[in-house]
Amino acid sequence: MTQTASNSALSADGEQRRFASLDPRTGEVVAHHPVHTAAEVEDAVASAREAAAWWAGLGFEGRRTKLDAWRKILSQRTDEFIALISSETGKPADDSRVEVALVMDHLHWASRNASRVLGRRRVSSGMLMFNHSASLEYRPLGVIGVIGPWNYPAHTPMGSISYALAAGNAVVFKPSEFTPGVGTFLASTFTEAVPEHSVFQVVTGFGETGAALVSAGVDKIAFTGSTRTGKKVMAAAATSLTPVLVECGGKDALIVDSDADLNAAAEAAIWGAVSNAGQTCAGVERIYVAEDVADAFIEIVVKRAKKLKPGGEPNANLGPITMPSQVEIIREHVQDALDRGGKALVGGPESIRPPYVEPVVLTDVPEDSLAVTEETFGPTVVINRVPNALEGVRLANRSKYGLGAAVFSKSRGEELAAELRVGMVSVNSVLTYAAVPGLPFGGVGDSGFGRIHGEDGLREFAYAKAVTKLKFKSLIDMATFDRSSMAGKQMLRLARMLFGR
Ligand code: NDP
Repeated sequence: MTQTASNSALSADGEQRRFASLDPRTGEVVAHHPVHTAAEVEDAVASAREAAAWWAGLGFEGRRTKLDAWRKILSQRTDEFIALISSETGKPADDSRVEVALVMDHLHWASRNASRVLGRRRVSSGMLMFNHSASLEYRPLGVIGVIGPWNYPAHTPMGSISYALAAGNAVVFKPSEFTPGVGTFLASTFTEAVPEHSVFQVVTGFGETGAALVSAGVDKIAFTGSTRTGKKVMAAAATSLTPVLVECGGKDALIVDSDADLNAAAEAAIWGAVSNAGQTCAGVERIYVAEDVADAFIEIVVKRAKKLKPGGEPNANLGPITMPSQVEIIREHVQDALDRGGKALVGGPESIRPPYVEPVVLTDVPEDSLAVTEETFGPTVVINRVPNALEGVRLANRSKYGLGAAVFSKSRGEELAAELRVGMVSVNSVLTYAAVPGLPFGGVGDSGFGRIHGEDGLREFAYAKAVTKLKFKSLIDMATFDRSSMAGKQMLRLARMLFGR
């Protein structure tokens, strides 16, 4: 398990079971990969456990040197990396370039900041415990099982992998069955930089391989994918009390206030909704626009959306729908919105021509329709008018999801952002929080819990270890049966004097 399995995956007749990853633009085979069995996944976790002890022992500086070497290899092989992402997802080359740039930025941030965030530091021991020193450090958990999606097959799992490795853990990664090549590339380039032990391995296959990883005795599972699968992963992990980080779907809203820069808001709205063919967990799926600027805003969005064309060429605006089964969900949401009285301003059911979907802009869609309540994951967007931006915030907050949001307002962007029940908000831009490595990424509600990226993302893969050390004996020693009968009274008197006012 590179990288891939040391034991080959064998079917009942002794043949290695393999599966093909396909280019969704053409249906052509990109490569074949092993279907790793539960036994092989367990082997991978066992060798990762040995490697974890060595990796943790390198310390922050030792790991930083190794992670820098890996980053250099990735940087030298960007052409190959970009081509692989585009061939397995179908996304335009420029989108893959952005993804690779973000991978490198986050890996750099995680390795640079791990020591500062997780390293041992003194903590004030407080007035009552003044005769002890106190320190805190964050220790690696051991082996992290990472399960990733296909929509950003490098940036999304690397949000866990980079931070878990920098924190001192070994990683076993199960990429999506649609993007096994990207996962294998990540693990094999890591092994070039760190050949000594199996610190970062990949196991490939279908959902069963992911399920095997959850049950293989890892110290934490970092799952990114749909809410439906997230619930299954959490239920399976509960049987062994394995902690989980669960990054799931979203139904993110963009709010346009009356004083917003409408050109900027419209451009961001259409990019947030349609880029990556709308297959972005924190993509814009709903827009609430203040009534007094709605006509002007919608006019610009419609004009921009009509110019965007999907295709397989490297410079297309958007690529295909990567996962074929998603096409029916998109169709169902568009049809449901129209059946319930919504209007299509751009495109409609006829825009859905697998594997491509042209941009669809819907308006006046009832708030209880599928296109408003469920994750569509296609290049479609609902624009609904609201009396004012605060009403937009109220409707945005009615979603069961709570991943990200965007606000366009000149005078009160931060004020509106503060009212949104989501993990991340960008004011006068879209999705920018995902590109800031120092900011935590994650949501609330059905969008999951826990955080990747930033200081929280490093701590997610560590446990806090607290240590006190006696400096000198105190006259009031509570932790002994030999304490004086006055000790408790003296301590309480001191506490009341210090904290009782
Ligand atoms: P899925 O939930 O279908 O799959 C995610 C991963 O889980 C895949 O690797 C999948 O393997 C694996 N898996 C499937 N069944 C099981 C199981 N029983 N136990 C363990 N693992 C299993 O999601 P998608 O791949 O379709 O990704 C799209 C979803 O991801 C969207 O909902 C999107 O919003 C969300 N997402 C969330 C992000 C966030 O940070 N919040 C970021 C990016 C995407 P296989 O593919 O082989 O079936």
